[in-house]
Amino acid sequence: MQDIKTLTDFDQQHLWHPYSSIIDPSPVWPVSSAQGVRIRLADGRELIDGMASWWCAIHGYNHPVLNRALAKQTEQMAHVMFGGLTHEPAVELGRRLVNLTPEPLDKVFFSDSGSVAVEVAIKMALQYWQAREQSGKHRLLSLRKGYHGDTFGAMSVCDPVTGMHELFSGLLPSQLFAPAPTCAFGADWDATDISALATLLEQHHQELAAVILEPIVQGAGGMRFYHPEYLRQVRKLCDHYGVLWIADEIATGFGRSGQLFACEHADVVPDILCLGKAMTGGYLSLAATLTSTHVAETLCSGSAGCFMHGPTFMANPLACAVSVASIDLLLNSPWQQRIAAIETQLRAELVPLANHATVTDVRVLGAIGVVEMKEAVDLCQIQPRLVELGVWLRPFGRLIYLMPAYVIKTDELGALTHAIGQVIAES
Ligand SMILES: *Cc1c(COP(=O)(O)O)cnc(C)c1O
Repeated sequence: MQDIKTLTDFDQQHLWHPYSSIIDPSPVWPVSSAQGVRIRLADGRELIDGMASWWCAIHGYNHPVLNRALAKQTEQMAHVMFGGLTHEPAVELGRRLVNLTPEPLDKVFFSDSGSVAVEVAIKMALQYWQAREQSGKHRLLSLRKGYHGDTFGAMSVCDPVTGMHELFSGLLPSQLFAPAPTCAFGADWDATDISALATLLEQHHQELAAVILEPIVQGAGGMRFYHPEYLRQVRKLCDHYGVLWIADEIATGFGRSGQLFACEHADVVPDILCLGKAMTGGYLSLAATLTSTHVAETLCSGSAGCFMHGPTFMANPLACAVSVASIDLLLNSPWQQRIAAIETQLRAELVPLANHATVTDVRVLGAIGVVEMKEAVDLCQIQPRLVELGVWLRPFGRLIYLMPAYVIKTDELGALTHAIGQVIAES
């Protein structure tokens, strides 16, 4: 392996990282390997991982079952185009997604990343109304503090402030926004929480193609958990006003919130569902957009005569094969008990941190723990300290949070919460 300095020097001079500046790059830690919930740095140090690489690596890294599935598929074919061809990995994954998701979601569109799955969902909603000769229904209604990805359509439905809408104003389609839900998961339902969204639907339904939101957990826009009744009301209102509902479960899908899909907390089914992130167990980039036969057949009956999207790497066999293995691994594991145990431990060990003067809120749902600080954390200071403490966490804004692999052990999770307590005590 190249020496560490050669590696980081090239990186800092030539490579972009997520939301990074080329002029003033933040420090990066070179990784040589990862195993289970441990990330091994090039300098030999080992970090306990609390991020699961942004919701993805739910089984931990370097899992023998997933490695085997990938190696086996590589021997067959790494990729063939999906135009005019099909293959078993795509069919097997499609079968699982149709079976796992509730009726009537039974049509699957594969794409290569979460943002694209959201673009696809938006395009499906627009083509649906075009086909019904109501092309005036072309706007979306989203929630403040929402996050749906970084491409243009997805960006247009992200929170206008954290989604940096002013940077691209004029280029982004102008969408409608309801306030973020305030009634917390586990609190008593407050019927006024839905009023603003209801009013927007009442006033604008004639120009609305769809409501798009992240069910139960608003992720990158603030890590907030809201009341399931909100979703039941959304379903009812969308039906009442003739507006489609898109649920973005890219972060919450595959168990993270304690249910396989977050919509199950409210026992509701969206018209269009976006999946991604944990779908391949963190191995490869793959996403899916599911919809009903009704929506699918309607949108294909329009003047275009088909759905107008087709990524080059659509249904990539490697990604599909590892996804099939990941889903089977999950379903054959005691995932509910594991996530419940993580939730219990996170509550026990994080809630006491709320006593610190610098902390404003601590919340836990499923395998997600969040400590919200009063002030934005200084990443340049806190990140090296966390690494020094032997953990990998990536705070953002005022949030120190974790969403570990489901296989994490009690002592490993304890090390993560202990490190959080430590940096807060020092703050
Ligand atoms: C991460 C995320 C996306 C975007 O997915 P990418 O694979 O990063 O494009 C969209 N929606 C939600 C809810 C996400 O968490």
